[in-house]
Formats: sequence, structure tokens, C-alpha cells
Amino acid sequence: MTRKNAVETAGLSHRYGDVQALSEVSLEIYEGEFFALLGPNGAGKTTLVNLLMTLLPPDGGQAWVLGHDVAKQPEAVRRLLGVVFQDPALDDRLTAVENLEIHAVLYGLPRRRRAEAVQRAVAWAALEEAAKRLVRTYSGGMKRRLELARALLHDPRLLILDEPTIGLDPQGRLNLWERISSLRANGMTVLMTTHNLPEAETCDRVGILDRGKLIAVGSPGELIAANGGEGATLEDVFIALTGRQLRDENATARDLMVSFARRGGEHTR
Ligand code: ATP
Repeated sequence: MTRKNAVETAGLSHRYGDVQALSEVSLEIYEGEFFALLGPNGAGKTTLVNLLMTLLPPDGGQAWVLGHDVAKQPEAVRRLLGVVFQDPALDDRLTAVENLEIHAVLYGLPRRRRAEAVQRAVAWAALEEAAKRLVRTYSGGMKRRLELARALLHDPRLLILDEPTIGLDPQGRLNLWERISSLRANGMTVLMTTHNLPEAETCDRVGILDRGKLIAVGSPGELIAANGGEGATLEDVFIALTGRQLRDENATARDLMVSFARRGGEHTR
């Protein structure tokens, strides 16, 4: 069967020992789409993208990337993907140029195109001045820009970003986000995992994952109209669907506020 979707999964499941991390997820992501997988810590986002990246074997269901079965044709899938992992995957004892060159060789870029592709990637990541410095001297934002540029070096057809802006300061986040957004103009298909609501809200469609299950999929507007109504946010949608907060840090912040208010109350009594 010919499948034109960038990603398709049917009943995709994965279990780590007793933990059912992903449970019968069926999803379609269209070519050219910016798609966000939104969910709290432990929802199964990384497990889902790791299955698509062929880093984990599915133990139930099937998945296809641009028509290739991830279990049966992992090499074809990997060639079509650009990935940025949640944890940094650069060699920080090397320079940016060296990291990019290794990637270019691993992905079989012809020698005559390598130097130019690496220079273009350095410029795209705005790392010209730092290009020959060891990556361990870089800020978090510079590293993440380099990882993104590296993921694009071999002209992938699908870019998978696992929490791309996590841990960056607001300026680093904005800087990286501008680069990610600029890929829209080139028609790149992007699948990203996130707990960042403003980022998810700018995507074409959002899939909400909770406890391994895909509980809703739609454009941000559709999800809000169906589950929250005017003035609602995606977080309200998540609470309406699950009865829980999307972000642990919100819950933690709220608990702290409550406990702070209680302590304050005791103090003034
Ligand atoms: P986060 O936002 O924290 O990255 P996530 O949505 O990406 O979370 P996963 O990392 O896919 O979630 O984890 C899904 C579930 O599987 C969680 O309960 C997690 O503890 C568990 N899990 C993930 N990796 C492993 C592993 N290697 N061994 C055992 N359990 C795991």
C-alpha cells in the first residue's frame, strides 16, 4: 500500500517491563505539517518518537515514516529523518565544524559537497565566529542551534525534535524557535514533542498524549473549540480531557503557593 503521510502509526504500543509507555497509538502526520506532541512528563512522547526514529522496536502495532515500515525498513527510515534528541548528542571535545563534518560523512554526503554544506550549516546556526571553537565552550542555545543545523545537513524529509527548546533561557528559546519556524517556508515536515504551550499553539496540529494514550488530535483551534471554548488555552483542553495539569512545574508551583499561603497564614495568626 502506498502511504503519503509523513508519519502513520496503527495501534503502536511499547512497554518497558511493567510500564506500558505507549498504548495503541494511531496517528497520521501529513507532509509539510508542523505537528506537536503535547503531554506531561512520562506521557510517552519520547517513546513514540524513539519508535519512529527506529531506536526502539514496537512491541505492538505498526508505524511508517514516509511509507517505510520502521520495523522492516529501518535504514530507509533513518536516511529520511533529521533528529534532535532531548539530551545533547554532540561531541563537545570537537569544534562545530568537526561535528558537522562527521555527520556529513556518516550520512554519505559526497566529498565535493561537504565543505559547502558544513559552511552553510554554520551560517544558518549563526555560529560563524565560534565555528572552530570546541563545542564544550558553547552556551546551551549555541549547542541546540548546532544540533538543529546538523539534523538538517543531509536534507531530511522529516525533522523530529524531542523537546527542542527545553532548558534554554528565553532569548535562546526565541532564537531557536525562529530557526525552527523558518523551516515552514521550505515545506519541511516537523514533529516535535513539547510541554511548551505557546510553541504547541503555533503548530498546524497537536496530538495530546497522556499516560501512553493519544487522547485528542486536531488544530489548536479545533481542540480548544471542542474542549474549552473561547478564551481557553491548550492547557485548559488538557485539564478538561484528563482532570490534571499539563505541566508538573505548574502543579509544583501551585503546591508551593498553597503551602506558602498556609505558612504565611500561620505566621500572621
Ligand atoms: P518527558 O517529558 O519526561 O520526557 P515523555 O512523555 O517523553 O516524558 P517517556 O520518556 O516516553 O515520556 O516515558 C513514558 C513512560 O515510560 C514513563 O513512565 C517512563 O518512566 C517510562 N520509561 C521511559 N523510558 C524507560 C526505560 N528505558 N525503562 C523503563 N521505563 C521507561
